[in-house]
Amino acid sequence: MSHIDPDVAALIAMGEPVATPAERTHLAECASCAAEVAALARTVAVGRSVGGDAALLTPPPRVWDAISSELGFDEAVAPEPAAAQHAVRRGSRGSRPRRRLLLALVGAAAAVVIVAGVWTSVSLLTPRPQIVAEATLDGFPSWQGAAGEAVLEKVDGHRRVVVTLDASVPADGYREVWLIASDGSALVSLGVLDGATGEFAVPDDVDLSTFTLVDISQEETGGDPGHSGDSIVRGELTAA
Ligand SMILES: [Zn+2]
Repeated sequence: MSHIDPDVAALIAMGEPVATPAERTHLAECASCAAEVAALARTVAVGRSVGGDAALLTPPPRVWDAISSELGFDEAVAPEPAAAQHAVRRGSRGSRPRRRLLLALVGAAAAVVIVAGVWTSVSLLTPRPQIVAEATLDGFPSWQGAAGEAVLEKVDGHRRVVVTLDASVPADGYREVWLIASDGSALVSLGVLDGATGEFAVPDDVDLSTFTLVDISQEETGGDPGHSGDSIVRGELTAA
């Protein structure tokens, strides 16, 4: 017989039980066809190892739309994995639409591999912050319902505090974030909190075994640069 049809080779590589006895015999004897199936199988395996079967057989809806309009399927056909698989089997052997469907499936798998690859590179290049301590920020009596949290992170050798504030604050004035010594004897301003969340670098000379309290205050525009004494929330950092 002639070499195995490339479409059939692709289906065999995907694990579809489509090979006829003659094709199986040919595959066992023809190095060229065996190599082709093996190469395709490696591509399929990479796609599956990254995205799993589900990702391969359940492409996004727009992929299915493109496939179904290409094949002239009724719009009502649900994009079930089973339907997609059925479509693979139902195309006549070697027909163009089936080849397009295979290309679409291989394309979807390749997209998964590319996205995963980019994601991995980005996470390898971006230093991963290490969470050192956390604080639950409790509202002061004059700020009923206010709450927040603070996370002390170490990233790239430097420390930073990430704060979140959940409070109904006035339109005038601004919010300032502070580190306060546990005995209240000293305080350091980290900066102005613009909005509900912010990241603040902790100066390298600040001893965090002394400055354990995170405080967010309400400040008057143009007022004294020190702490107004009007704390909205405060909490103590504890090792994570
Ligand atoms: Zn062959």
